[in-house]
Amino acid sequence: MIHTESEYDVVIMGAGFAGVCQARHLMMKIPNIRVALVDPRPPQRTDKDLKVGESTIEIASLFLAKELGLREYLIENHAPKQGLNFHWAKDAAKTETLDDYYHTGSNRQVPIPSYQINRAKFERDLLEMDREMGAEFYHGQVVDVDLTPNDALKTVEIKVGSDRLSLKAKHVIDAAGRRFIIGRKTDNLIVDPEDLMGLDTGAAWMRVRNVDRTLFHDGHDPLGATTSHYYATNHYFGQGHWIWMIPIDTETMDLSIGIIHHHNVLSAEQVNTREKFLGFLKANHTILSDIIESSEVVDFNYWGKLAHRSKTMFSTDNWYVIGDAAYILDAFYSYGTTTVALAIEGVTEIIRAKLAKEADAEQKRAAYNEFNLAYARSVNCLYRGHANQLGHASIMSWRIYFEYMWWFGVQVPMYVGKWHLDMTFIPIFLKTLNSNVDGLFADLCKQFDQLVERDANIGLMDCYRADQLIGGYHTLKHFDDFLENAKIEPLRCNVFAGLKQTCFYVAVWYVMFQWKGFGIAGILRPQSIYHVLRLLGLSMQATIGELIYKSKTKGLSANTEVEQMRQEFKSYHYQPKLQPWMTTTNQS
Ligand SMILES: Cc1cc2nc3c(=O)[nH]c(=O)nc-3n(C[C@H](O)[C@H](O)[C@H](O)COP(=O)(O)OP(=O)(O)OC[C@H]3O[C@@H](n4cnc5c(N)ncnc54)[C@H](O)[C@@H]3O)c2cc1C
Repeated sequence: MIHTESEYDVVIMGAGFAGVCQARHLMMKIPNIRVALVDPRPPQRTDKDLKVGESTIEIASLFLAKELGLREYLIENHAPKQGLNFHWAKDAAKTETLDDYYHTGSNRQVPIPSYQINRAKFERDLLEMDREMGAEFYHGQVVDVDLTPNDALKTVEIKVGSDRLSLKAKHVIDAAGRRFIIGRKTDNLIVDPEDLMGLDTGAAWMRVRNVDRTLFHDGHDPLGATTSHYYATNHYFGQGHWIWMIPIDTETMDLSIGIIHHHNVLSAEQVNTREKFLGFLKANHTILSDIIESSEVVDFNYWGKLAHRSKTMFSTDNWYVIGDAAYILDAFYSYGTTTVALAIEGVTEIIRAKLAKEADAEQKRAAYNEFNLAYARSVNCLYRGHANQLGHASIMSWRIYFEYMWWFGVQVPMYVGKWHLDMTFIPIFLKTLNSNVDGLFADLCKQFDQLVERDANIGLMDCYRADQLIGGYHTLKHFDDFLENAKIEPLRCNVFAGLKQTCFYVAVWYVMFQWKGFGIAGILRPQSIYHVLRLLGLSMQATIGELIYKSKTKGLSANTEVEQMRQEFKSYHYQPKLQPWMTTTNQS
């Protein structure tokens, strides 16, 4: 047994999605940083190392492509994602083909490309890139960690084969997923469904290969959409559950199919084995059991308990929890890797500021910690009431529309402009976010429940279409020209415009929802009047915010590189000549 000691700036426990991305981000942002990664999985990942978390949405995909510089890698190695599709059975007893379902969903390319990733391949490749960049990889297991106070060096005890090693680190990151290395040690986890807005779920999933894709869709859709239906994340709903179908590899044609079920409606005992899960699908989503029967099965997995959050994410003792080690609530909308991206950027900036001994490092830590904890709560809120509502096509379609409005209108621009790292913006954002979670969203959730109970049909809202609200609005609409003018440097993207317009359109959505669901009584309800006035008030505040933002950024170019080229271009002259390339010998 060998005992050796090595010292690092950062030791990352776990080389899954969160760990390998965090390591690359740190090395890209902080020159010469010494990083170690520890993971018991071998660097050459196989089918056995396939994990869930295959679908990315805009923030995660921008993070991977832009922050980590993986755009070409993603295009060449992972499947393009074609938005999200949602399906509800017309008749629960007949679910053989897609025609047996009502649908809303992606009808065109979304403006920001995202990807369906093969996790084993992604983690293998990123780990290799990390090692090439200088990260030390220990193929072993963390057995203990000594979380000393404040800036004192930490010790991470690891087991590599039969050897025990002690790694010293200024900063320790727990990215070891559900091992909860730091979570257990510091009593940092929130797991009681009562404290998770009632969320009590489990998940079963399978990976299958070489399916007969025509059982889902034959690809010929001259009238419906300009996108592939197969490469979208397809969601199938029913009472107390939703099911995903995600293509994860274009070479092996692997497909991930899984269920999130709410224990109070559908118990673990009903879906926790491969046979039971297949039986459930045969009875309730025959199309999916037929697809699975046409394939080679790669694996089956079941987790009885999914959701948890953390009390602290970035501690003043220089430990950090990210990824599953920090929080996961539900897989609906595929938020997981997005939450990882937001956390990683915060961690990197804190560590950068700490290593550079900057005066505001601790202020940043406090602000980013608060931001990520509040963000986790807001993600939690996305699933409140799902147990009752998922199977109701009309109500869920309205809910999805509402949630899409905030995503594209506020969250995506916030991320593009790096406002989640901005110390003046964070408190403003958190105030709005927290009051929405506890006010408007909570109240709406009760109303969704009431409508489900009444079996109200208030129509099917399709968030991708521009003919559902007013003025050609659709939820993917941007209110700033950040894409057209590549305003992708920090603070260039005008998030206030998104906030202003989104609050306004949400107010319109809200009035329409009250009218359809509850008639004039709904509109005149004191809470409704309050929410509409508050939304319009927020829109006004954002207008003022926008004016201040515009005056502060007056004269700032939308994109520095373009501006530089334009300046250089001022001395442009047409040169009607070619450089000689034929030698005298060639000419003869
Ligand atoms: C059912 C389900 C579906 C999901 N679908 C999506 C989706 O479509 N899109 C999305 O964005 N997110 C999704 N998520 C969330 C996503 O899976 C997580 O956000 C993501 O996997 C988190 O990665 P991670 O690196 O934190 O954890 P992991 O990928 O679990 O990595 C943890 C690593 O730690 C290692 N480890 C374990 N013990 C030790 C130890 N003692 N020492 C050192 N290392 C250790 C493990 O070997 C592993 O490699 C889903 C989650 C679930 C549960």
